[in-house]
Order: sequence, then structure tokens, then C-alpha cells
Amino acid sequence: MRRTLWLIVATTTVLLACVAGCGGKEETAMVRIAEDIDTRLADYAETRITANLDVLPASEREALDWLVKAAGVMHEAFVRQALPMSGEIRAALATVHGPDADAVRAYFDINAGPWDRRFHHEPFFGDWAHPEGANFYPLDLSEADLAVLESGADDTNGLYSMIRRDNHGVLTAIPYSEFFADEYGRATDYMDKAAAATTNESLKAFLAALAESFRNDDFFQSDLLWMDLDGLIEVVLGPIETYEDGLFGYKAAFEAFVCVADPAESERLAKFKSELPWLETNLPIPDEDKNPNRGSDSPIRVVDVVYTAGDTRTGIQTIAFNLPNDERVREAKGSKKVLLRNIMTAKFDQILTPIAETLVVSDQLEHIAAESFFLHTLWHEMSHGLGPGRIVVDGRATEVRLEFKDIYSAIEEAKADAMGPWCIFKMQEKGYFPESIYQQQAVTYLAGLFRSVRFGIAEAHGAANAIQFNYLVDKGVITVEEGRFRIDAEAFPAAIESLVQEILVMQAAGDYEAGKTMLDRFGGMSDILADALAALDGVTVDILPSYAVAH
Ligand SMILES: [Zn+2]
Repeated sequence: MRRTLWLIVATTTVLLACVAGCGGKEETAMVRIAEDIDTRLADYAETRITANLDVLPASEREALDWLVKAAGVMHEAFVRQALPMSGEIRAALATVHGPDADAVRAYFDINAGPWDRRFHHEPFFGDWAHPEGANFYPLDLSEADLAVLESGADDTNGLYSMIRRDNHGVLTAIPYSEFFADEYGRATDYMDKAAAATTNESLKAFLAALAESFRNDDFFQSDLLWMDLDGLIEVVLGPIETYEDGLFGYKAAFEAFVCVADPAESERLAKFKSELPWLETNLPIPDEDKNPNRGSDSPIRVVDVVYTAGDTRTGIQTIAFNLPNDERVREAKGSKKVLLRNIMTAKFDQILTPIAETLVVSDQLEHIAAESFFLHTLWHEMSHGLGPGRIVVDGRATEVRLEFKDIYSAIEEAKADAMGPWCIFKMQEKGYFPESIYQQQAVTYLAGLFRSVRFGIAEAHGAANAIQFNYLVDKGVITVEEGRFRIDAEAFPAAIESLVQEILVMQAAGDYEAGKTMLDRFGGMSDILADALAALDGVTVDILPSYAVAH
């Protein structure tokens, strides 16, 4: 439990109307601030994020600046989605003075509100309860309202609408084009200027289509054109992910990534990708469970981030993403994996290295490598496309996702994580990497397990990492020596292959019970893991990006 403290943070003058002619009266407002606000803030290490903009010709440099401005507007729109009771909460925040004032305001910005995104939206400022539906829905939803929303009647379940009450109190869906008309107007203006500046036809076409999407609340066409971007600028802008809507997951939250692409590095990764069918045929499962047609033509891009905004800017920072989410676009064109290299490097320096220095035996520290962290992230993403997807259970055509239901994400993330090194070792056998990759991958992977478990085992990625850690401890591949951990790099490849195999076999069979057994046995917070995490108190949890370019 986090301790909190009541602080007198403000005095507000309240004028009381009084027929007897009395004057003003001072009233004291009490707003709670989490006692450990400084620690919470310090968990995020402010980190300068830079990208080499010299590679951009003047035209693209100008376009980039306009896109950063458009991204700034997306941030404003996101905050409107995330923060209900905005007037009341901001007024209270404005009254905070004293030693905690700067910390609470900075932490408010990180979380886009008074709720801590790292701790299940528990309030760190005030006592407003976080509404699960953020500001997407009215706050006074009745059981009947919830039933309406559940059914999606009157288009209330659309991705691109805010739900409000009309004059009669009836729930109504207001399209983003209407609700965010002001933000869309300004963002479109900047996008038009960027489109005029760039000489890249694919970016021009995408931005024109995106402006149209903002007008008609239909992002299909702009999503298709986003897949075709082929210039030095990589940009995501608009309503994208639905996690912020914790009530139904219907509503898309605004965010932006403005990035500079690295075509040479993307080319190198394209070679890796061409090996996916070969890797699929070499999976440690029976041939009939393999799916050599599964690998799509999805492009992979390596970029350096210049600016981020909105949903992705809050809380934990993204190191890679796979978009678009629209299945129709995925069927037509696949999806694009984008790896944010400078963010990964920053996390390696600020988080992974200190974790390793705290928890890994000193004689293995020399094998920690930024390249291995990057490769693991890359192959994690690629591994999602390997192994059973569509399956047949008792003659019934189904999908792993449908059979595994609530445990799907944790098991699938464990698969992708474990298969990452498996792929890298296979690729080493083919001559893609030097022999030193075995030591580097093993030790960097070990430090990475602790990094991810810190996000909490209640969350799929955290549970997935607990599975791997406890499994490898059980196999004797990870051992503890006076509070520090050693990974047996020679035994690691075979052990990780056996974990990959166990997961793939249960996925191919759609065997929910087997998945549940694995999650129950290994996915928990073992004592050894809890002790390790306790030792990480005070080590940076995430970066707080500060970008060289400002909107
Ligand atoms: Zn994943």
C-alpha cells in the first residue's frame, strides 16, 4: 500500500452572500497529495531523446516541424478524452503551493490526470475516483445506460465517437469530427502545411487522406495509405488504440509518433523477415501443426522518434508498435512493425543497465548489450507471426485466441518472448550473427525479464515474463548467488526451446487447461522473484522523454 498524507494546499476565498452586510470569509480546501509523490516522479528518469535530423532535406525538415505541431494538438485532444471533471481538477491543481507543487504538476502531466497509470489509476492527487471509461462516457451511467452501451445501440460502440447525454438525458454518440472540431481544424491546417512542404508523394497522399478521415470519421483509406509510406518521415497521428477506454474498449484515443526512418537498417531487417518461412518450418512441433503460409508481407521499419504525444506519451513509453489495428487493412496489406530505436537505446541505458548492475552476477555483466535488447524486441514482434494461429480442435475450425480466451495474451506474450532468442539462435546457425550472440542474448534477456515483471504480473507482459523466469529457475538455468542472478548461457538455448515447444504444443491443440496450468504454476510472483524486485527499489522504472523539437 502506498501511504498518503492530507496536506493543506490552498486557501480559497469564498464570498458568502449576506443580507446583513457581512464581508468575505476564508475557507480552507484540503486536497490530498500522495506522500511519496517525489519517489513516484523519480521512478521516471527525464531523458533527452534525440534523432539525427541532418539526414532530412530542407523540404522534409519543414514537413517534420509542421507534423510535430499537429502532434501537439493530438495531445490536447487526448487529454480531453482522458480527463473528466477537468475544470474542477485543474482548479484544485492550480491552488497547490509548497514543496510538492512542482512534483505533483509534473506527475499530473505524465499521467494526463490525477490518477497513477502505474498503480491501476489510484489517485495520487485528490480523491476523485477514476472512471473506467475515462472521459469517453458520462460519469453518471446507470445500469440501463450500461446495458445500452453493452449492446452498442445507436452506434454508441463506435471507435470514433464520444458518448454524452442529449437534452432529454438520452445517451448519444457525438462523432470525433464534431466533438474535436477545433482540434481537428488546427491539426488539419498543420497537416496541409506539411503536405505542401514534403516532396514525398506517399506522405502527401497519406496526409491528404488523413485530413479527409478527420472530416468523415472513417480511417480506412488513410490506414491503407499509411502502409505505403516510403520516405524519411514516419508518422502516426490520430485516434489509434482503445486501452484508455477501460469500460468497453470501444473508443480510440489520440496519439502521435513523429519519427525519422532509417532505410538502411530497415533493409537489413527485411532480410531477417525473409527467413520467417524457414523458421516456421523449423519450429519444434509436428509438421502438421506448422503454418508456413502465416507470415504476411508486413514491412518492418526502424525509426528514431522526434516527438510523441497523447496516449503514447503518458505512463510507460512505447518501444515498438504494430499498426494499423483495422483487420480489413491487415487483410488487404498486412501491418507495419515500427521499432523506435532511440527510445530502446534510452531504456537500455536508463533501465536495463542499472537493473543488470543490481541483479546480475558481476562476471556476466560484460555481456549486456544494447544490440541484444534491440534484437530481442525485434524478434519478439516477429515471433507473434510464427506458430499456430488458426487451428482445428475436434474437427472445429477456430483460433488460438478464441480457445485461450482470458489467458491468451499472457501465453502469447510468453511465446513471443521465448521464441525471440530461439529465432536469434537459429539465425546464428545460418550465419547471421557471431557466436558471441549466445552469451549476450542470454544475459541481456535475463535483465529484460526483471524489467518487464516490474510492470506487474496482473498484466499480460508481466505474467509472461514471470512464466519465463520461474520456468528457467525450475530448469536450473537461472540460479541465484547471494541476491544476484546467473544465467547458464550454454543450457539456455535448449531450455528456451523446450519452453517454446511446450507453449506451441498447447496452442496447436487449443488446450486451455494446459495453458492455465502453466500460468498457475509459473506465472505468479515467486519468493525469489519478489526478492529480486524488492532489490530494484529506486532503479528507474521508465524514461520521461524530453524531445529536442518542441511543438
Ligand atoms: Zn508482444
